[in-house]
Amino acid sequence: MIGTGRGAQNGILIKNASALENATHLDVVIFDKTGTLTLGKPEVVEVAAAAGRTEDDVLALAAGMEQHSEHPLAHAILERSKGMQALPADGFTNIDGMGARARSEGEPGLVGNRRLMDAEGVDLAGMEEMAERMAGGGRTVVHVARGGRLWGLIAIADAVRPTSEAAVAALKKRGVDVAMLTGDNRATAERIGRELGVTLVLAEVLPGQKTEQVKALQAQGKKVGMVGDGINDAPALTQADVGFAIGAGTDVAMESADVVLMRSDPFDVVAAVGLSRVTLRKMHQNLWWAVGYNVIAFPFAAGVFYPLTISPEVAALAMSGSSLIVAANALLLKRANVEGLK
Ligand code: ADP
Ligand code: MG
Repeated sequence: MIGTGRGAQNGILIKNASALENATHLDVVIFDKTGTLTLGKPEVVEVAAAAGRTEDDVLALAAGMEQHSEHPLAHAILERSKGMQALPADGFTNIDGMGARARSEGEPGLVGNRRLMDAEGVDLAGMEEMAERMAGGGRTVVHVARGGRLWGLIAIADAVRPTSEAAVAALKKRGVDVAMLTGDNRATAERIGRELGVTLVLAEVLPGQKTEQVKALQAQGKKVGMVGDGINDAPALTQADVGFAIGAGTDVAMESADVVLMRSDPFDVVAAVGLSRVTLRKMHQNLWWAVGYNVIAFPFAAGVFYPLTISPEVAALAMSGSSLIVAANALLLKRANVEGLK
């Protein structure tokens, strides 16, 4: 495990030597959107009701179902509907990457994205344009339906982290492409991707498909870095050439990652790449110092170039000299100017 003095303060942990090497020639870094490029603390910013319903109806129906969910979007809805009388629901089941279903007062209820509504044949009750406007603003649109009818829409925003844009720009400046991966719908993802300047937006990816996305880029001959925090990122982190676990994420993510970024700062990816490049350059320099000294001094001492020779004492000095230079050069690593390392 490698962590320089400053690296450790910074909270960058490089767990193996091959990760150090691989991090120096990444072609593309994939960031998971939620919780990595964004704060992962979504908030309800708008509620719209279908004809004949009120905003409170929409929240009460959604809250009743989402009470049984662990999803961050569910937390946002529950937070917003605090103090409100939720409509009782039971038989809650998650629908991977789309939302959830439950029985609300005996009627089949749904909460989730547009794909879920389409799959279940829910009539969008003339709210398509409203949904598109919300998604175009980078919000996640949660559709709330019961008895096959749409009750309304809940727009949820997850603010981007303050250093996300700078991290993307810094990686691109170093010749590394940046991709964003999310289960969120395309319009929302495109909007956030554009805002951050990412090269490639991979949207509407089901949790189980994340690994496939990494493989697809590797199949193009690219060295792929993957940055994530969630439990469903673990296989993708393992598949990537370098897996970065961000923040105090899950234990599983920490285990499967090659590099652990203790703080939840996407810019630490830039710092980790920079640190790897400087470290590797040092290692190569040191190899030459050590080898060079011995290769030159040894034959001289052995009399190969007689009458030009050096005494064994001088050769011995040279040998310790080479070790000294190697050690001193390694220490200079601490002074190296790596962007993002403070
Ligand atoms: P991500 O973590 O990238 O958002 P998920 O697979 O967790 O991906 O979710 C994908 C999409 O499915 C969400 O953007 C949302 O539209 C919908 N979804 C999933 N779970 C819920 C839920 N409990 N309530 C509402 N929508 C949900
Ligand atoms: Mg997720």
